[in-house]
Amino acid sequence: MNSNQELVNYLLGTGYASEKIAKAVMKIDRADFVPEQLKQNAYIDSPLPIGHGQTISAPGVVTFMTRLLDVQEGMTVLEVGAGSGYQAAVLAELVGEKGKVITIERVAELVERAKANCMRAGYKNIEFIHSDGTKGHPAKAPYERIIVTAAARSVPKALEEQLAEGGKLVIPVGSSYRQDLLLIQKLKGELQVEKTMPVVFVPLIGEE
Ligand code: SAH
Repeated sequence: MNSNQELVNYLLGTGYASEKIAKAVMKIDRADFVPEQLKQNAYIDSPLPIGHGQTISAPGVVTFMTRLLDVQEGMTVLEVGAGSGYQAAVLAELVGEKGKVITIERVAELVERAKANCMRAGYKNIEFIHSDGTKGHPAKAPYERIIVTAAARSVPKALEEQLAEGGKLVIPVGSSYRQDLLLIQKLKGELQVEKTMPVVFVPLIGEE
């Protein structure tokens, strides 16, 4: 695949991308979120290295997670693992100007890179936080939606607590080489956990 249009057509073909998500992905050029020397690979459905041992997730995975998260206009979404900022930009497009994305990243240089990438793409509704995302971001909790884009050994307690009633949390949980992507919903204070598909993410490194 050599263009964003081809990538979007492919994502629609997988069945993971709704029309709404496809439209969002179409507006955001993935080439702007990958290192210069990898731009020719930007439209392939594969993760790519972004430095510091980290990766931008494969577009198919971004789409699948975004679909599970069920983001609506005007919502506030918390992301743990800003990386390149690509997933944050997709979420920012979906929540719109009245909504907000708060994204946490532990590597300082990646915070700056993600910020620059998202600014260049025109998103002003994203707040970037340099911190340990396993603790969430209590200042603005609770959140209607939380997405974790790094592999957790278990679901961090802080994220469970900061999830709003009726809220949804999407998180890969498992070992360092294979995880189950979980969709967790908080209903009447209880967490309902649904296993979706197996995934491979870089590790979530934090205190919890
Ligand atoms: N969503 C990103 C991909 C993330 S890769 C994108 O669209 O490009 C996972 C990211 O999680 C890495 O950048 C890594 O540094 C970060 N990370 C790992 N543990 C973390 C933690 N405890 N808090 C915040 N970020 C973390």
